[in-house]
Amino acid sequence: MDSSTKFIFVTGGVTSSLGKGIVASSLANLLQARGFTVTIQKFDPYINIDPGTLNPYEHGECYVTEDGAETDLDLGHYERFLNCPTSQANNITTGRIYQRVIDKERHGDYLGKTVQVIPHITDEIKYRMKLLAESGEYQIIITEIGGTVGDIEALPYIEAVRQLKWELGDDCLSIHLTLIPFLKATGELKTKPTQHSVKTLQESGVQPDILVCRSERPLGSEIKQKLANFCNVKPNSVIESLDAKTIYEVPLLLRNQKMDEVVLEKIGLPIEGNLNMKLWIDFLDRHENPVSTVEIGLIGKYVELKDSYKSISEALIHAGAVSRTNVKVKWIHSESLTADNASSILNGLNGVIVAPGFGSRGLEGKIEAVRIAREHRIPFFGICFGMQASIIEYSRNVLKISDANSREVDPNTKNAVIDLMADQKKIIKKGGTMRLGSYNCKLSKGSKSFELYKKINISERHRHRFEFNNLYLESLEKAGMKAAGTNPETGLVEIIEIPDHPWFIGVQFHPEYKSTVVNPHPLFVSFVSASLTHKNL
Ligand code: GLN
Repeated sequence: MDSSTKFIFVTGGVTSSLGKGIVASSLANLLQARGFTVTIQKFDPYINIDPGTLNPYEHGECYVTEDGAETDLDLGHYERFLNCPTSQANNITTGRIYQRVIDKERHGDYLGKTVQVIPHITDEIKYRMKLLAESGEYQIIITEIGGTVGDIEALPYIEAVRQLKWELGDDCLSIHLTLIPFLKATGELKTKPTQHSVKTLQESGVQPDILVCRSERPLGSEIKQKLANFCNVKPNSVIESLDAKTIYEVPLLLRNQKMDEVVLEKIGLPIEGNLNMKLWIDFLDRHENPVSTVEIGLIGKYVELKDSYKSISEALIHAGAVSRTNVKVKWIHSESLTADNASSILNGLNGVIVAPGFGSRGLEGKIEAVRIAREHRIPFFGICFGMQASIIEYSRNVLKISDANSREVDPNTKNAVIDLMADQKKIIKKGGTMRLGSYNCKLSKGSKSFELYKKINISERHRHRFEFNNLYLESLEKAGMKAAGTNPETGLVEIIEIPDHPWFIGVQFHPEYKSTVVNPHPLFVSFVSASLTHKNL
């Protein structure tokens, strides 16, 4: 381990969903803007090995890294705020910790010993917490502990933080994020839940160094002083985190309270030079002061829970800022779309995205959405299952293969235009067995995609089991749907386009995972601008 690496731990108290991921990302963003190399990792106290098999209703979007890890959606925020890739090592679950300890036990590594939560599980947690430091790449590692202080399942993690604070001394810092509720009846902000939450942490032997307090209203110096007194922190270490217009404002709100300086001073790193936030501030200005608006329909089956499509909605924000366009998303439930109503529901939209997904529920509605976008020449962007839906639609309605389908939806179909490849057929286990992570794609010269990426060889992240069936490629191409990108190693189709349409692109991969604030994705940028053109027709 690089002895100079600094470790910052972020825990949460009072309630869940306070935005630990955004606070961790925003702090990392400020430290990065000061010139430090920073990464963020998340420890999730659930027993699943990863969120890959979880329903989005349980856990929101499953975010995929370059190396094919299926991870918590907070890793998406880390990448979007830092513009640096994360990896399997950045998201650890209790399942993974136990799996390794049990494997070691079977291997005989603890021969003669009783294997226990303390020290064996906590040692494994500490080993994982320090692992990213081994590369020597990072000066600062921020670790977000999932869940809320006081949860039974989070206890070994808090214990590991306690031990590391002792071992690492000033190289280690603990930040606690809490809620300061406002009681309308008395017109007061209340500090008691925070006092209790800090007490719970202290009972586990961890004294927070900094409090970040979520609040609807400014705390004022009196409340800060009170929190400082009761919680053993300095007043300048009580940072307020007011509800922001956008998550991308949070770094600046923290900066206004000099949180970066407070942190650097505590971990003994120099506070030199100026913060380089130019690109960030420029993005915020373009995002918050749009000159035009487009309305995009997002067709999916988890639209009640917008977190299920987090990376897509963020990618649209990044892309919109490029042309100072406010991208309004109309969330449309795929099951609500039928051949009769699709036209009236989608009418007036400037662009249509058919979202990723699994299983048969809602597929027919997605196919109807593709048909309307294709026939009415509305810009269409199909992502993963969305691309597969567009191929089924084209096969049924243009090639007139009326029973064209995906093997996933109809295992007995005679015309599986989307099918399982040989290497997937033998797979029985569900966890971590899809085509995951980054794969190469070679673009066809003359395609719109080539024009947008401005290069021949690209790589994008995947998360799917089924593929375009190349047996249908020739007839689809003859009928006007072109393969614009293929995997050079396997020949699998990665991108389809309809050249005789203003903007019709389907991608087998997930471009949304790679869109960041300072590096908006070219396909999203072009899609938003095509939607603007469509609006102004
Ligand atoms: N269900 C499809 C498959 O597994 C698409 C997956 C997705 O949209 N991520 O191939």
